[in-house]
Amino acid sequence: MNTPYRRAANAAIVVSPRGEFLRGNGAAGELSQPGESIATLFVSGETVIAALNEAVQSGDVVVIDEIEFASGGSISLRVIPLPDGDGRCLIDFDAESTQLEPLEEAARQNDLRVQRLSEQLVTVTRELLNRTAQLAEQKQKIDAIINGMEEGLLGCDEQGRIIQINETAARLLQLEPSRVMQHPLHEAHPFTANAIGFDPDQPGALSRRNVNFTVAGRDIRVFSSPIVDETTGFKGFVLILLDRTKQAELDQMKADIISIVSHEMRSPLTSIKGYIDLLIGGDVGEVPESMMSYLGIVSQNANRLSSLIDDMLDLSRLEAGKLDMSFGRVDVNYLCDSVYLSMKPQAEAKRLEFRRDVETGLMVSGDVDRLQQALGNLTSNAIKYTPEGGMVAIEAMRENEGVILRVIDSGIGISANDQQRLFQKFFRVKNAKTRNIGGTGLGLCIARTIVEAHEGRIVIESSEGAGSKFTILLPEYQS
Ligand code: ADP
Repeated sequence: MNTPYRRAANAAIVVSPRGEFLRGNGAAGELSQPGESIATLFVSGETVIAALNEAVQSGDVVVIDEIEFASGGSISLRVIPLPDGDGRCLIDFDAESTQLEPLEEAARQNDLRVQRLSEQLVTVTRELLNRTAQLAEQKQKIDAIINGMEEGLLGCDEQGRIIQINETAARLLQLEPSRVMQHPLHEAHPFTANAIGFDPDQPGALSRRNVNFTVAGRDIRVFSSPIVDETTGFKGFVLILLDRTKQAELDQMKADIISIVSHEMRSPLTSIKGYIDLLIGGDVGEVPESMMSYLGIVSQNANRLSSLIDDMLDLSRLEAGKLDMSFGRVDVNYLCDSVYLSMKPQAEAKRLEFRRDVETGLMVSGDVDRLQQALGNLTSNAIKYTPEGGMVAIEAMRENEGVILRVIDSGIGISANDQQRLFQKFFRVKNAKTRNIGGTGLGLCIARTIVEAHEGRIVIESSEGAGSKFTILLPEYQS
């Protein structure tokens, strides 16, 4: 852009009749100095002087097409005699010069590009401002939701420093948010850090867990979840805190009510059952045949009520952790045999093929009565839900570090959908096949609670119409 013809474009200068530079417009500023001959600017300066003379003499405009600059490039000139008659001329450097066109075009294109760029810049800046405003708005909304949550929420970074704490968490843990933000949890609330197993020397070792503890008389349940990024690894953790004070009180009340009601019902029921048995046994005289069938129904229902009460009592005690369990070494062979023998009459009554296949020498650690109850519930279900002539088997074997107790049947099976709710309290599958089979819907729930109290678990494999397989996994007894 700094070439002479670029500078000369649009220049206009006034020269003496001998071609000396007198003055020029802004564009001509650097072309020449006052007094200097403009002929020196061009390769053939005489052409300019000749044109000057011609213009002065003729009084007409003389045009020079394409004259070459001494320093390169060429331009067209118009020599215009000035009307004051002293021979001065105006030399107009033609901006339309062919040499200038590509340059001007390039300049124009550049201007356009710059203009487009600046427009894009404006759009991007506007977009950025919009996004920033949206982000700020979203953050406000999220903050409002987090603060409005009934659950406490506390977030820490990978060093265990508190980076988020909502009002509920602050209230439950009795912390002042502005004081603890950016402070390590193990300093701000060592009790919580300990309870969730946070080790400041190994923050990434934190695992997902639920714990209950009491702070200032409130029962709090805490769920801790590490945040792990697939590429960068451990990023921190989140704690959700629930105030269980009310729930714990309600649970206690519920357990108390169940226990009182059940106890109160148990004694009269025992007496009803006793008297019915006396009547049925003929101890108080002969009972006519017609009355016998009614007494049978009364007896059946009294037994049903009695097992419901037993189940409810067991469950409420198990859930409250009040069921005394005496742990010891349990011989799996004895456990399976006792369940097998007690269930044999029921299996025979239904003409089932009833088998047991137990590996010898297996031992688990646990409460023998409760384990009998859990295995008994599974076996009694297998018998109940297997049509006459079918098969039920109790198996036990060692697997890896544990012991497996398994009850298999060729019965009606359970759909995948029902399997999901099977261990819920009072849940019973309702279909044509189960309609006439009695039960409380508590047996599996009790079995699972017992097994979990033994640090084991129950797994079910079943499909509708194809039998069921209930497997109890227990850790092997360690001497
Ligand atoms: P229930 O007293 O009703 O048997 P459970 O808690 O023991 O209560 O079982 C819940 C439900 O699961 C039963 O009502 C039954 O529908 C289903 N179920 C349990 N065991 C079996 C089985 N072996 N085969 C088919 N269905 C079963």
